[in-house]
Amino acid sequence: MFIDFSTVDKASFEADICIIGAGAAGFSSAVTLMNSGLKILVVEGGGHGVNARAQALHTAILSGHPHSGIHEARARIIGGTTTKWGGQALPFMKEDFEGRPHVELSGWPVTLDDLKPYYKEAETILGTDHSVPFNYNPWKRSNITNAAFLNQGLKLFVTKWCKVPNFADQHSDKIESGSNISLLYNANVVEVLPTDDFGSVKSLRIRALNKKEGTIKARFFIAAGGALETVRLFLASKKFGAAGLGNSSGLAGCYFQDHVAATVGEVLPTSAKKFHDIFDPFYKDGFKYLPRIKLTPLYAAKQQALHASAQILFAGDNTVITDIKNILSAVKNKKAPALRILWSALAPLKLAGVIKTLWRWKINKRGPSAGKGPIWLEVHSEQNPLRESRVSLSETVDELDVPKICLHWIISDMTIETIRKTALLVKSEFESTNIGKVILEPWVEDGAVNPSCLLTDVYHQCGGLKMAASDKDGVVDSSCKVYGINNLYVASSAVFPTSSFSNPTMTIIALSIRICRTIEERIKKENLLFSGMKIFKHEKDVA
Ligand SMILES: Cc1cc2nc3c(=O)[nH]c(=O)nc-3n(C[C@H](O)[C@H](O)[C@H](O)COP(=O)(O)OP(=O)(O)OC[C@H]3O[C@@H](n4cnc5c(N)ncnc54)[C@H](O)[C@@H]3O)c2cc1C
Repeated sequence: MFIDFSTVDKASFEADICIIGAGAAGFSSAVTLMNSGLKILVVEGGGHGVNARAQALHTAILSGHPHSGIHEARARIIGGTTTKWGGQALPFMKEDFEGRPHVELSGWPVTLDDLKPYYKEAETILGTDHSVPFNYNPWKRSNITNAAFLNQGLKLFVTKWCKVPNFADQHSDKIESGSNISLLYNANVVEVLPTDDFGSVKSLRIRALNKKEGTIKARFFIAAGGALETVRLFLASKKFGAAGLGNSSGLAGCYFQDHVAATVGEVLPTSAKKFHDIFDPFYKDGFKYLPRIKLTPLYAAKQQALHASAQILFAGDNTVITDIKNILSAVKNKKAPALRILWSALAPLKLAGVIKTLWRWKINKRGPSAGKGPIWLEVHSEQNPLRESRVSLSETVDELDVPKICLHWIISDMTIETIRKTALLVKSEFESTNIGKVILEPWVEDGAVNPSCLLTDVYHQCGGLKMAASDKDGVVDSSCKVYGINNLYVASSAVFPTSSFSNPTMTIIALSIRICRTIEERIKKENLLFSGMKIFKHEKDVA
């Protein structure tokens, strides 16, 4: 059931488990708990559509390196940032979880093996094809060419893509029809309140943009508001102490990271066809896959570098692709394509391109990628965790009286060196295996030039509520439970100690599922159902 907090008569709500946020982590947690028999309440600040006032709650104050994603890459809406994302899924590597002597503060208190079963479940929630393993070798297919790299430092791999990236589209029907789940929207959590002994969360204070106030009580809470907003909520919850919630270590807000991207050069392929055969996306049973290049962890370690990947950006004319997509979308919606689009696609000069692209796409299951034009090489690097790269609170407040975020984002020399080393290796491999020539940007070859102004974030915010083996070193333990708080878990990339080069969401989802299983186990083991916890009946207790 969906409930609009701003209009419903009721102001106080209760549940067995309350999930803060209806984005990737929030929906994943709700779907995982769907058949638990427990009463689940998801509380979401946004509504069904984009709302400029809700979005403005994310306005932050920046210092340090410019960070575009803090304003562009977060959505306060049901579905969260999955309403904007691409849906590209990739698990972290074994080495991402291990301590690396050359990367200070690396090493997670969990291993890849700990997460493997949850990665598997995450695929069901993402809606990717389980039958295709991540080490699937598509290059066995006749029309897909492998890059025969000579250097063991580079490896080609593929990412899997969701068919329905927006989680509100993919999963809302389960919330709508689930007898034990409600989603309370237009309800912003503005503060977390403690029990008398400060050892647990007692309730949440919620507020709508029309100033309606309310509370939510629950036995367990899962904080899934996205990395930055979850850190903000923790720091703003001053009833736990002046430093905020979960901040006895003084580390809440520290070690903020993103993936750092740079366009490092232009590729001039030896054979355009061969190049497209290696790097164009391809399709199998209707699912999309994208070939990318990674620095192997062994090579990264030898080079004292971070984990990084490289990808190819075709920046040529893509009006043919746009025309085809518009026509197919009109046909799918049982509408006649606009004359303007038909005219454009059928123009004699374009028609050959349209037929070629359609053939390659529908028959060969490749592409579509842009036509003639520049081909850029882009490198993405993880960051080494830095305490000074951090989120704190401003003295100015948003429309709901919650202090705004101050973000001080730092990019280290080690990250820049990793990007350089990856670019140089890709150039050398492309040229020695005759894939093509790479014209690198001057700063890549000249270490004296500082490329800072050319580096951007990749919309993958991580860190701020670090997972650690001890409460002195982090904010949450290996199960993502907040140290010192009995009933609060964080389902977010905020807990990542380091962030791999892989896109983060599959790992966020795997951790969310693991949190739900941990809570279910605790309820069973600690006999919580029979020791005073009330089991709420859906119709009676929630709006
Ligand atoms: C353009 C773009 C492309 C991307 N592509 C990829 C990709 O291909 N692969 C990938 O892995 N990642 C990608 N990402 C990143 C991905 O979208 C995020 O990692 C993911 O959505 C994070 O999930 P989340 O649940 O932690 O946060 P979100 O999805 O942001 O959800 C948080 C939810 O909590 C709500 N909320 C926040 N604070 C409060 C509060 N105080 N009270 C109530 N509700 C609150 C928000 O409104 C939101 O609905 C992309 C991002 C962007 C912007």
